Amino acid sequence: MLPHTPLIATIAVGFVSALVFGLAANRLRLPPIVGYLLAGVVVGPFTPGIVADGDMAAELAEIGVILLMFGVGLHFSYKDLLAVKAIAVPGAIAQIVVATGMGMGMAALLGWPMASGLVFGLALSVASTVVLLRALEERQLLDTRSGHIAIGWLVVEDIVTIFALVMLPVLAELLTPAAVDAPAAGAGDVLRSLALVLGKLVAFVVLMFVVGRRAILWLLSRAARTGSRELFTLSVLAIGVGLAYGAATLFGVSFALGAFFAGMILKGSELSHKAAHDTLPLRDAFAVLFFVSVGMLFDPRVLLTQPLGVLGTCLIIIVGKSAVAYLIVRIFRHPGDTALLIAASLAQIGEFSFMLVTLGLNLGLLPEAGRDLVLGGAILSITANPAIFTIAMRMRTRRMRRTTTAPNPGHENGPRQARETDHIIVVGLGRVGQRVAASLATSATPTVVIETSVERVDAHRRSGGTAILGNAAHDEVLKAAGVQQARHLLVAVPHGLEAGEIVAHARRLNPGLRIVARAHVDAEVTHIRERGADRVIMGEREIARLMIADIEALPPE
Ligand code: AMP
Repeated sequence: MLPHTPLIATIAVGFVSALVFGLAANRLRLPPIVGYLLAGVVVGPFTPGIVADGDMAAELAEIGVILLMFGVGLHFSYKDLLAVKAIAVPGAIAQIVVATGMGMGMAALLGWPMASGLVFGLALSVASTVVLLRALEERQLLDTRSGHIAIGWLVVEDIVTIFALVMLPVLAELLTPAAVDAPAAGAGDVLRSLALVLGKLVAFVVLMFVVGRRAILWLLSRAARTGSRELFTLSVLAIGVGLAYGAATLFGVSFALGAFFAGMILKGSELSHKAAHDTLPLRDAFAVLFFVSVGMLFDPRVLLTQPLGVLGTCLIIIVGKSAVAYLIVRIFRHPGDTALLIAASLAQIGEFSFMLVTLGLNLGLLPEAGRDLVLGGAILSITANPAIFTIAMRMRTRRMRRTTTAPNPGHENGPRQARETDHIIVVGLGRVGQRVAASLATSATPTVVIETSVERVDAHRRSGGTAILGNAAHDEVLKAAGVQQARHLLVAVPHGLEAGEIVAHARRLNPGLRIVARAHVDAEVTHIRERGADRVIMGEREIARLMIADIEALPPE
């Protein structure tokens, strides 16, 4: 007889179904998360066939949230957070207030009591960490100013949710004093609860920065000094997951916030890059389970039973919230493209909303229909998010074309501007690309750069270069750089798989192009060559060659 192994079953069903549907989505040129969500719906309890354990999947998904936020913290310093507080704090609060108001308005239309409207509105006003971070990461926007604002905004939403989760039971007590034996809660109780949450939050942050920081760095460097990769990775995971769990149980802080602080503390250490790198595969795997678990919660029947309700909910999440966020960012005099990015980032809801509706339902504050609408709104807004991001990025690119001055007379400097022929295209303006572009700037051959980071594109254009904003793995971006007329393509991005993708597209568009790419390991060299590169330069091999050359250059002693 098969042993009872629900954890393994959930992980196996989650991974396998996500892979199958993820691949199918990719075939259909849809973003993989659509596949993961669908996988969840299929293995969920509301559709026939296999049914995986939803609670367990949701718990596993939390590990994804923890690792993701931990990873973000590792890239984010305390200073970065403070640098965006002027916009993130008022922005997030104002947006929550307005979005909650919209939700309450809709609830009133549905004839629900005020308290239901409040829970419903709050649930619609807070965005999902996982969706937002993945969207930013995929487009290499995490380390940009807009990315920082979006993360700061998310942290504020997280803190507001923590307060909301604590305050809802108090509210329920206030509204239904007869239902509990204790005397009715008064203003004093409300204040006391608020103070307690605030106190715990402050205690947590202070403790982390005063004691936690030293202890954690000590632990990490101890593990690093052993020289054992296993112990190092283990120490990173123990710190991230352990602190998140400890923060949640001892201080009532969410897992996400606990993990974020754990990461931020490590950021100061020179080991943080290695730590971030080591947890990457686990993080990706568990983030996938997050989407599967969201899909599992979804009952597709709600689309038939409450189509208008679902539509209204989606409109609030996708249109209402983004419009408010856009306006707020603009009111704070940030550029339009930052506003567009923040608006797109927030046009979805996820895990915080589920927590709020679950609690609201348990407390009798929210009708079941409210939960169904929130879940419907979540799955549809998460599905739509990649498309919304694409639209926002296009609008942003168009804006940049309008706002940047043309560096080369006779050429408009928009994304569709590269009219050169026989030119060189450089992909990626990072450690390698920047050096290459700087050398080429003095040569007679025109150069066009492709880069995903707005800041880097902007800086390059300001210094007089021609740059295309976008991902070079897309045909239209390559065409915008004039790949069909170019002579050389230098792919200076660090990831082999991504470089292979860029090379394959470029080769298809221009069979005569000379393509040179960058790699770090032998397998990448083979992969990129197979996709059509003429030459792949492996950093490590070149370093070895130059080291030997240095010995040979010395006269024998
Ligand atoms: P580095 O890691 O310092 O070598 O920098 C790599 C640079 O390439 C970064 O500036 C990235 O934003 C950029 N980059 C990475 N992937 C792409 C891509 N697919 N298209 C365009 N730019 C990219």
